Amino acid sequence: MIQAERIKLLNDRPERPSARYVLYWMQQAQRASGNHALEFAIREANRRQLPVVTVFGLTQRFPGAQLRHYAFMLEGLVEAEAALRKRGIRLIVRLEPPPRAVAALAGGASLVVTDRGYLRIQRRWRERVAERLDCRVVQVESDVVVPVDLVSSKEEYAARTIRPKILRHRSRFLTPLEETNPARSSVGLRLGGEKLGTAEALLKRLRVARRATRVATFQGGQSEATRHLRSFLKASLPRYADEHNNPGRACVSRLSPYLHFGHISPLDVALAVRSTRGVAAANKDGFLEELIVRRELAMNFCRFNDHYDNYECLPEWARRTLAQHARDRRDYLYSPQQLESAATHDPYWNAAQREMVETGTMHGYMRMYWGKKIIEWTPKPEGAFGIAIALNNTYQLDGRDPNSFAGVAWCFGKHDRPWKEREVFGQVRWMSAAGLERKFDMNAYVEYVERASAKGEVRM
Ligand SMILES: Cc1cc2nc3c(=O)[nH]c(=O)nc-3n(C[C@H](O)[C@H](O)[C@H](O)COP(=O)(O)OP(=O)(O)OC[C@H]3O[C@@H](n4cnc5c(N)ncnc54)[C@H](O)[C@@H]3O)c2cc1C
Repeated sequence: MIQAERIKLLNDRPERPSARYVLYWMQQAQRASGNHALEFAIREANRRQLPVVTVFGLTQRFPGAQLRHYAFMLEGLVEAEAALRKRGIRLIVRLEPPPRAVAALAGGASLVVTDRGYLRIQRRWRERVAERLDCRVVQVESDVVVPVDLVSSKEEYAARTIRPKILRHRSRFLTPLEETNPARSSVGLRLGGEKLGTAEALLKRLRVARRATRVATFQGGQSEATRHLRSFLKASLPRYADEHNNPGRACVSRLSPYLHFGHISPLDVALAVRSTRGVAAANKDGFLEELIVRRELAMNFCRFNDHYDNYECLPEWARRTLAQHARDRRDYLYSPQQLESAATHDPYWNAAQREMVETGTMHGYMRMYWGKKIIEWTPKPEGAFGIAIALNNTYQLDGRDPNSFAGVAWCFGKHDRPWKEREVFGQVRWMSAAGLERKFDMNAYVEYVERASAKGEVRM
């Protein structure tokens, strides 16, 4: 089912009557199934007895994106192309910014359908396409369970304020998306575009930032995402509530890179979790809290806070208290380079940083600790914010996501409340190495990172 609240007309242009196809501009939801925007395009095309053509504009200058991100994304695109072809849908990949790629093909389209993204650049692309094209542009929100604008019309204060608003609608949106077969195939249409072949071949031609090398730990694409999901449901979901915070136990889904690139639908993940038999409700609820409430709080944050990627995004109380303590003595001070090369005195922080640089991910609990320590070990909180965003977005495979900005901002008090006042942090929540040791077997985590790093990086 495609609920009406997922659909938004982005301009008021008429449909083009003499058209050759319906154009699906794939951007956020980079997958051939479980994709509301694609299914909407197929249904609209069938009503007009037209085929669907899919276009993907591959910009080599996505802000902050690195070789490792492009490699992961291309692996997913290669798979999506083959899966779409099986459904009778041609995927055209063009090496240019999305608005240009869409414009190049829009001339033959009766209407353009796209998915939704929440970051500034994604919003601007859609605005530009809707403004410039002389045909109708429709957006179908495909990468959240509950549509963001239905949940709230303002920036939410915290998980506790958005949770009831999401839960009010959640069951209505936790319904499977039925797939329709396209009535006409577009596979034989001659429309240009790159020959995709393998991800490697295309990757060699791209001129992209290469500071963060390719990693062997994750392979992009919908089938890998599904494999991660299946193994999570079997091995980790039954222990999720008690153990997902423990960095020494691999009790998390590791789905975030796939969710970030739209290689898997959050709705499909939620439905699979909900229907898993023999798992205590606390485990399912705990996971759905992260996947739906916390993740969609991050979407709400980027949708409604124009400063989501800079220090100004923080609540007034957090900025005030951090400013009051900006001159407090720091026991350790590190430069951005020392942090980047994991050269601090703290073995747990260094392990987390290495996990991120060498494997492209970091355990969720360690992300909190990692961000907090950057505040503690750098001279100014404003500078710490910039360092955390830059490192996160350069090295995490799931970086540059609404969750990246919300996650870093959380370390500085966003979506949190004031705590007991202390040095450097003021009333912002603090975390300590002793706290980690009290709760978890931290040696297990450090050893895990040693092993994972050994097979992590792939030099290209
Ligand atoms: C400093 C900091 C930086 C972060 N940077 C990123 C980032 O760049 N990209 C990113 O996707 N997440 C980020 N997070 C949020 C969270 O840590 C990750 O989403 C999570 O660790 C991903 O691992 P997983 O898929 O195994 O999670 P699981 O525990 O298996 O959770 C399933 C899914 O729920 C969502 N989720 C889980 N925890 C959170 C959370 N705290 N907030 C929002 N959504 C959540 C994610 O989509 C995740 O894939 C950051 C958090 C912090 C504190």
